[in-house]
Amino acid sequence: MGKIILTGDRPTGKLHLGHYVGSLRRRVELQNLGDYDKMFVFMADVQALTDNADNPEKIRQNIIEVALDYLSAGLSSEKCTLYIQSQIPEIAELTTFLMNLVSVSRVQRNPTVKTEIKMRNFEANIPMGFFAYPVSQAADIAAFKATTVPAGEDQEPMLELTRELVRRFNQIYAPVLVEPAIMLPENATARRLPGTDGKEKMSKSLGNCIYLSDDADTVWKKVKTMYTDPTHLNVSDPGHVEGNAVFTYLDAFSTDEDFAEFWPEFQNLDELKAAYTAGGIGDMKCKKLLNSVLNKMLDPIRARRHEYEQDIPEIYNILKKGSLEARETAAQTMDEVRAAMQINYF
Ligand code: ATP
Ligand code: MG
Repeated sequence: MGKIILTGDRPTGKLHLGHYVGSLRRRVELQNLGDYDKMFVFMADVQALTDNADNPEKIRQNIIEVALDYLSAGLSSEKCTLYIQSQIPEIAELTTFLMNLVSVSRVQRNPTVKTEIKMRNFEANIPMGFFAYPVSQAADIAAFKATTVPAGEDQEPMLELTRELVRRFNQIYAPVLVEPAIMLPENATARRLPGTDGKEKMSKSLGNCIYLSDDADTVWKKVKTMYTDPTHLNVSDPGHVEGNAVFTYLDAFSTDEDFAEFWPEFQNLDELKAAYTAGGIGDMKCKKLLNSVLNKMLDPIRARRHEYEQDIPEIYNILKKGSLEARETAAQTMDEVRAAMQINYF
């Protein structure tokens, strides 16, 4: 069995820095290393509809936005299969079968789903589809026999459930499905990047994001008002780097080369942190550094986005080709699934 990489994003908005460090950057690296048999990257429009059922237009528009983000971040349709979840109905079929192998209380225990239910004020009235999305996510992964899922920390409970479902399926029917492993970012900060407000995680639903497609003015506006250290009132005061969003972002994004280029007084982030903690370093200077670091990273992404935006029909062509290709793989798995379940009658 080879290595099959699979990940996706909900097309509920443009992709942000959390997606980038949590998963997308890793996908591009893996793609360029080429150390895999297949790489699947998809837009989870069916999942996006579970909490946006009344807003199909939003999902439709964001398919293109996310596709532009993928391509401009460096994913290549030559090296990976880019597809749209809804175009693979086999996933929905597998979801139905996997739902029989898990209890409602098991899904209820999922901490990520618990937080998301609260965030959406769904407590009294959870759409059935939203409640069941972790099972459909297991089907997303299992339908492709994925072995490796590069994702942020919030996805750990989903992968745990996927492995349980795969084990149950294989035990009851036949060893058809494959247990996947999560691939978390090496950088601990990147596993759950907080928002610009310093809280929880950067998330489209919380409105605390810097988007990959934000222009330089927008990035500076957001960086300028970022949460730092409320006790650091004067430049001479000792500062705290813990819980200070500017330093969290520098942890996730800055390199030693960035220091040589933008702030040569310090060789690396550890040196700047020590000086900031001792006192004498202003927040504004740190924000300017972060702004330069982010723009250096985002400039080539912005330039590629601009190119791809010129030919939207070509984006749809790429997604159509990818979706047809992905469907063949899922259909093959489903033939085996149906045979294992003895529902291959004719
Ligand atoms: P939504 O609010 O619609 O759920 P989201 O911003 O949480 O959107 P998803 O589409 O749910 O984004 O997540 C896609 C991928 O990006 C997942 O692998 C997830 O782990 C990763 N990811 C999202 N936000 C972050 C973050 N702040 N830090 C690290 N990884 C993240
Ligand atoms: Mg999410």
